[in-house]
This record gives sequence, C-alpha cells and structure tokens, in this order.
Amino acid sequence: LGNKIASALRSLNAHVVVDEELLDACLKDITNALLASDVAVPLVVRMKKNIVREVDLDNMASGMNAKKVLERAVFKELTALLNGGGDASGTKTSGTKTSGTWTPKKGKRNVVMFVGLQGAGKTTTCTKFAHYYAKKGFKPSLVCADTFRAGAFDQLKQNATKAKIPFYGSYTESDPATIAAAGVKRFEEEKSDLIIVDTSGRHKQEEALFEEMREIASVTEPTMTIFVMDSSIGQSASDQAKAFASTVDVGGVIMTKLDGHAKGGGAISAVSETKAPILFIGTGEHIGELEAFETTSFVSKLLGMGDIKGLVEKMNEIVPEESAEKLMEAFGSGTFTMRLLYEQFQNLQNMGPISSIMSMVPGMADMIPKGGEEQGTKRMKSMMVLMDSMTDAELDAPNASKIFNVKRMERVCRGAGRLPSEMITLLEEHKRLGKMMGKMKGIKMPGAGGARGR
Ligand code: GDP
Ligand code: MG
Repeated sequence: LGNKIASALRSLNAHVVVDEELLDACLKDITNALLASDVAVPLVVRMKKNIVREVDLDNMASGMNAKKVLERAVFKELTALLNGGGDASGTKTSGTKTSGTWTPKKGKRNVVMFVGLQGAGKTTTCTKFAHYYAKKGFKPSLVCADTFRAGAFDQLKQNATKAKIPFYGSYTESDPATIAAAGVKRFEEEKSDLIIVDTSGRHKQEEALFEEMREIASVTEPTMTIFVMDSSIGQSASDQAKAFASTVDVGGVIMTKLDGHAKGGGAISAVSETKAPILFIGTGEHIGELEAFETTSFVSKLLGMGDIKGLVEKMNEIVPEESAEKLMEAFGSGTFTMRLLYEQFQNLQNMGPISSIMSMVPGMADMIPKGGEEQGTKRMKSMMVLMDSMTDAELDAPNASKIFNVKRMERVCRGAGRLPSEMITLLEEHKRLGKMMGKMKGIKMPGAGGARGR
C-alpha cells in the first residue's frame, strides 16, 4: 500500500505544472491503492472528497507545491482514520477516546476490559499488555472471565504464571460476571493498579455474547475497554467492530497478528468504525511482541516518507554514537558518500531484522526486495563486497555515481567477483539515496544529538 501511494505521489514530481488532470490521475492511483489493500469503499470515497477539498488547485497560492499539499492532505486523512476519527474533521477528542495516547494512571484504579471475537488474540494480548505495564512499574493483575471456552482459565493461568502476573479465575463458577466482579474486588484489595479482565469471545457475534459483555462491564466498571481485532480477517472486521462498539464503550483498539500477511486496510476500516484509536499492535505470539502504536510513524511509513522518529530511536539504541552523528550530519548537509552507505550497511547488520529497520529509513523501504529478509541481506552483502574493492578516494567522493568510468567499474567488479549489473545497481541505489538526503537537507532530526543521553 505504502509503495503504491508513494509512487503515485512521486509521479507528480516528474511534472513541472500540476494541473487538474494530473492531480486526478494521482488521486486515482492513491484511491486504488487503498481499495486494493482492503480499505472500505465509503471510507475511501470520503477520504478522496476531503483530499480534493484540501487540494483546491484554483485557490492554491501560486508557487505552493501541489505535491506537498497533496501529500499533507493524504497524511492528514490517514492519520485521522487511524486515530479513530475516520474523518480529519470529525476526530473525537472527549472522554476516553482522545486520540492515540491513553495510558493507565499509576497507583489509581485502572480496570481494563478486553473484548473481541474468539481467536482474536484477547488472552494472549492480555498477558502481553500486563507484561508491558509491569515493565513500566505498574502492578498488573489478570482476571479470567471466560467460562465459555473450555480451558480458557488454564490458558490464562499458564500465560500469567510464565509472566509472573497475579491471576484470578474459577473452575467451578459458570457465571462470567460473578467471577469478574470477585476478581476485580480481590485485586482492588491487593492494590493492583492495573486490573485486566479477559472475556469470552464465542465464534460469532450473538446476542448472548453482547449481553455478557454488558453484564461484565456493569459489575466491573472498567475505566477502559479494549477491542481486540484480528487484522488478518480484512473488511469483515468492520461489522464486528461496529457491533462491539455499539454494545460497550470501546475506548481503544489492539490489532493482532500484524506479523502475518494481513491486508492492513481492512483493519484500518474496522478501526474507524469503533471511533477509537489503535493503542497497540500485536506482532507475534511471544509475550514481548506487542508494540505501542504511533500513528504518525505508521502513516509516514505507509506513505514512504520513512519513520524518522522510530529510526532515530532505534539508532540511539544500537548504532555507535560517532556513526549516528555522522549520519545525522549527512542528513543535514546533503552529502552522501559511498563510505557512509557502507557504514550504514554495517550498522544495519548489527541492528537485527533488516527489513524492519530498512522500512524505517527514508528511501530504503523501496530497497527491500520481494524475496524479503534473506534477499535483502544478500543484496546488501553484495553491495558491501563491491565497496570493499573501491579505493579510499572513491569511497569518500561526494559524487560517487559520476566518477566511475566503465574501466573502473569493470575493475571493481573483477576485484569483488561481482557482476557489472550489481555494480550498476549499487551506483543507482547510492545515487537515489543521495538524492533523498539532498531533499532532507536542513530537516530537523528528532532526538538527534542531544537526546542520546535518555
Ligand atoms: P482469544 O480467543 O481472543 O483469547 O485468542 P487467543 O489469545 O487464544 O489467541 C488465538 C491465537 O492467536 C493463539 O494461537 C495466539 O497465539 C495467536 N495470536 C494472538 N496474537 C497474535 C499475534 O499478534 N501474532 C500471531 N502470529 N499470533 C497471535
Ligand atoms: Mg481467550
């Protein structure tokens, strides 16, 4: 999705004058990309309308960059969608539904109820959620109010024990509301400041399930209700989300299974039905695989702008200080040498899963080949081998793509035992990234330099 939108936006670059026809074509590409990734039709239509309103060519101040305006409009619309507004102008900002930033209050009564269909990932996510806040100094606890699924309590018990989180449940009591009330009461007495209530899901939406949700909510008085949604079910998530949101006061959403090959668009549509922001995403079965959701980063990535903030944070964790500063300098100055590219590849190797890191680097997202991780690593290694055969002067030249003549290219290839086509790819990639750097010249890097001491 991101690549398609980004390339649609890029196509505007090729033209000096942006007229209505060109804008229409670009919008069409963007709309198609959204539809192809399963975003619901009415949402896409509404978004397009909003974008057209924003990008009013006639009223655009002369000299204003139409591409920037369009990019900003698309960005704004997608962000609003993900923050649960569904509409940039209609984002809810009251009650528990403030966009994106809900957190429990330490030392206070926080009762969080998890709802969602069976198999959505509630029980798994409950424990991840408890673990996440335990690390932040909370005293979480887990209550199993699922008496429908056989073995539900055992599953929660096992997870909770592994994560060292206190839990409550019953093998004999069959009324979920009774258990929920008793569990919440117990943990209130034990001064848990984050009581998490796991509920049952059933296979489909049915009145009995919704009645049960209402009962549990009325006896536990949750301060937050989180709707857990399986992101792999696509648009059918929308009806489900709507049904849950109209039964209980959904204040936040967690999308699970985003590690699979889910079409995120359907999930995005569903989220907009709940009018509640995405708080976390689940990216695996393991307890640590829960990520706080950051709308701006996510949309930046989607639009191929690169997740600068996430990148800087990750870099601060892993990259040697000196090298990080050099890169920041390069970002600022617009000079991007082969050596710098080499060093970045070295850093990437130390950073873990390449595709996840590369997708954060502006411009590099496009470099992740279809074959994924393994292919990406291979390609990077081949480029590094080529660079190993270059001279210092070549590595440090500010315009590497221009200084190589055919002879030198052949020599480098021979030295590295690589094909000329690989050398050409390297030069092209280097040039492309250099251009990106040029565009980012003077950009403010969040967290660069001073923020390192965190
Ligand atoms: P519940 O019925 O809503 O309580 O769902 P469960 O927590 O029992 O999860 C159903 C299945 O989904 C389990 O096999 C989980 O391991 C799996 N699961 C949950 N979250 C994720 C996730 O983020 N990624 C992956 N790959 N699997 C998940
Ligand atoms: Mg469960």
